[in-house]
Amino acid sequence: MGMYVPFMIRCPLCSHENKPAQSPREGIRKTLAGEFTKCRKCGAEFTEIHVPNRPLVKQVVGQLGKISGIVTIVNDIPGNASAMVVSYR
Ligand SMILES: [Zn+2]
Repeated sequence: MGMYVPFMIRCPLCSHENKPAQSPREGIRKTLAGEFTKCRKCGAEFTEIHVPNRPLVKQVVGQLGKISGIVTIVNDIPGNASAMVVSYR
């Protein structure tokens, strides 16, 4: 309900909480567009990211039209996280 929820991507290798952008909307946009794929701390390359199907995510998907092949929109992810890296290298 208009609450500010930062969009984070936790690195499965080093546990760093990556924030692709200051604003949640821009963080989601970068992630869905495939513009954020590497952990800023350890450099792990994310090869599959799950993003929960929240209202802001739906909006951004609608604006982009097409999303990165490494991103899957899922109904829910464990722990109520912003996004979950499923695989990396
Ligand atoms: Zn990392």
